[in-house]
Amino acid sequence: MKPEQFPPEVKSHLIPRPSGRLIYRCLACAAEFDIQKLLYTCPKCGQVLLIHDAQFDRLKEIPPDQWRRLFDYRRMLTLPALKGIYRYHEFIGPNIPLEAVVYLGEGHTPVVEANRGLQQDVGLRFYYKNDGQNPSASFKDRGMASALSYINYLISSGKVSNILAVCASTGDTSAAAALYAAYLRPNIQSAVLLPHKKVTPQQLSQPLGSGAKVYEIPGVFDDCMKVVEALSEQYEVALLNSKNAWRVLGQESYSYEIAQEFEYEVADKVVVVPIGNAGNITAVMSGFIKFYQVGLITALPKIIGVQSEHADPVYQYYRQAPGERTFVPQTVRASVAQAAMIGNPVSMPRVIQLVEHYNQLAGCQRVHFVQVAEQEIMDWQLRANRNGHIACTHGGECLAGLKRAVAQGLANKTETAVIDSTAHALKFAGFQDLYFSNQFPAEFEVAPQPALMNAPIYIHPSDLAQVPAPGRPLSGDLFDRFVQAVSREIALDLKLVKKKG
Ligand SMILES: *Cc1c(COP(=O)(O)O)cnc(C)c1O
Ligand SMILES: [Zn+2]
Repeated sequence: MKPEQFPPEVKSHLIPRPSGRLIYRCLACAAEFDIQKLLYTCPKCGQVLLIHDAQFDRLKEIPPDQWRRLFDYRRMLTLPALKGIYRYHEFIGPNIPLEAVVYLGEGHTPVVEANRGLQQDVGLRFYYKNDGQNPSASFKDRGMASALSYINYLISSGKVSNILAVCASTGDTSAAAALYAAYLRPNIQSAVLLPHKKVTPQQLSQPLGSGAKVYEIPGVFDDCMKVVEALSEQYEVALLNSKNAWRVLGQESYSYEIAQEFEYEVADKVVVVPIGNAGNITAVMSGFIKFYQVGLITALPKIIGVQSEHADPVYQYYRQAPGERTFVPQTVRASVAQAAMIGNPVSMPRVIQLVEHYNQLAGCQRVHFVQVAEQEIMDWQLRANRNGHIACTHGGECLAGLKRAVAQGLANKTETAVIDSTAHALKFAGFQDLYFSNQFPAEFEVAPQPALMNAPIYIHPSDLAQVPAPGRPLSGDLFDRFVQAVSREIALDLKLVKKKG
């Protein structure tokens, strides 16, 4: 629909103009810094930052009903800049002019209700939100669209040039960073650091295909992260890890979409997310808080963060008694939720602050953490996908976490869960292969359940003299005999019944 065709009461706000006054704010010392430069940690104390809109209160002047209508109407626009996460421009990056917005098809991922059988197995109504249907097949695109739109804005206003963007990654961050940087050629080049053999072949193929410089480093993600931090402290590079607060802003769109999808009725919703570097759960909490503050939602949904036993520093922190908690970085073990295999999450200070704020606003404990076994992650991923989903291992981790939460009384039948498949199943097909072929190395602690295994059946009837091959087709009698013999064998295996007459 064309902007001039919209009703008068939404027209004035329909196409957002740059507004607000964004600043970086340090979580530790509360120092504030100008948004017009690339900044990742506090120049005064070194802590992580979050972005605040000093004029956020202006958003409360628009009544909640008008906001809701505005977001619904924006759905009908064909303007690329407003098709993705910037539908929520005023909340995502109000200072970014629409001309600078980079849109590659991210956001507004499908929310798919589980079938009755699977809901019964889990014990409550739930939906998968398929963030694997983002352009680089993970939720990381949300944050990259935000971070790269901001950098694009700095470039177009002449504040920076010749950007070299770097990130450390468990696979998906580098795929997303390389994709968005490639779109902004030649103004941005990208270089990504990956832990050697700790990302899947599919994930490795992504930054290579996008033309990024790809460096493989010995160790795990936490080691890569330290190298990237050293690079960004000593050299002129743009850091694209979720340490970069712009990433968090973009990822808040996940919460806004859930709110809009469920007609802003979130009081009975349970939002389940996996935790790795903790950027995602930070964004999810922050997003719901902002919508709550302007009255777009009138209650805060429950949030459940899930971690594997093999990488659970956040879970271990919250297991301690309030007031006595100390954060202990962990040495991680092999995990099928490999993109979350992080022992020292960069966003931990943000989580600590936001969990407290969230619970305070809600007036009760609304953020919970559960831990799941590697076995449960694989089993629930496979069960989800056998019921029509495309969940990655982290999507399996979320479902396993939801099941745990129900068992522990943290969620129940009166609620509806929205669980995050953070990436596409295909990125982690290798773990499915290990399961189906019963070849998991012992360190994973996963043994396949026979009922969940599957394997292709090779049909090659022994009485066939010749079979077709690429470049060597069969014809005539030989081909007929081949078709008949193969169908007979398949029919036998499937126990098919012959048609009558
Ligand atoms: C990055 C990632 C995670 C972990 O998200 P954090 O923001 O690091 O907590 C989970 N799943 C997938 C597929 C990821 O790529
Ligand atoms: Zn500081």
